[in-house]
Amino acid sequence: MADHPVGGLDYPRTFQEFRDWFATEDACLDYLEGLRWPEGFVCPDCGDRQGWRISQRRMWMCATCHRKTSVTAGTIFHRSHTPISTWFAAAWFVTSTKNGVSALALQQQLGFGSYETAWAWLHKLRRAMVRPDRDQLSGLVELDETFIGGVSVGKQGASTDKVPVQIAVERVSDRKLGRVRFALADAPGSLGLVEFACATVAPGSTIRTDGARMLRRLGERGYTHEYTTGYNSPDRAAELPGVHMVASLLKRWLIGTLHYRASDKHLEYYLDEYAFRFNRRTSTARGLLFYRLLQQAVATDPHPLTELTAES
Ligand SMILES: [Zn+2]
Repeated sequence: MADHPVGGLDYPRTFQEFRDWFATEDACLDYLEGLRWPEGFVCPDCGDRQGWRISQRRMWMCATCHRKTSVTAGTIFHRSHTPISTWFAAAWFVTSTKNGVSALALQQQLGFGSYETAWAWLHKLRRAMVRPDRDQLSGLVELDETFIGGVSVGKQGASTDKVPVQIAVERVSDRKLGRVRFALADAPGSLGLVEFACATVAPGSTIRTDGARMLRRLGERGYTHEYTTGYNSPDRAAELPGVHMVASLLKRWLIGTLHYRASDKHLEYYLDEYAFRFNRRTSTARGLLFYRLLQQAVATDPHPLTELTAES
């Protein structure tokens, strides 16, 4: 499989092709092997490339350390009792739907008995989505914080339940945005934004922020720092238009597609999914998203169901 995957060759272009290609469990496993070991088997233990299939159960034996492994070992599909073809159907459904799907929609589409199962699957797929986005942003980057959530009424009266989310987005030109990165902030504040920038933006880039004094440290951390003068400017959206556009799209998606509520503790996963979608928004081939998702899925550690508990 190639660095520049081709529709119809490396990934299915249509649902019809998807069904033709992945009609059997074997076909799905062959595809996964191609994604995980594009140049042939590699032992996950010792890294040796010599090995052979030892059974119809798709096990491989390493010639050097004699460890047995399968194409799904160590991935999100590990120890799944569900056929891989069902995982493929879920991945196709999630990536071929423009804005993604809710757990309820996935449950209905795949006929899962429980909402909780569909929910756990979606979260496993989200964990796979975050993988590829480890390259740092570069060029001109807008940086700011937004607040997700709302007001909840408790015993102590109304309290705000807003979670600070850090956003960095590349400005390719006046009208064009590049890639985005999100992170949940431990606490609101500029110092956290500086750390976030250091983790997500390549040194040498230009970072544009509001005028908060703390952010001027960016200049000492290897960036060219441009900032607007007003910290409490009445029209912040006009000063950092890219990051505010992303923030409003994100909020619309959380509420419209995921029916997000402030009590939901899994915002971090949703940010992963949104970044995955946003960073591939110009890709017209939905099948390419399917390809990328599976490619990342076979490179992801397993997250057993017990680590994830559905919120009601
Ligand atoms: Zn080995």
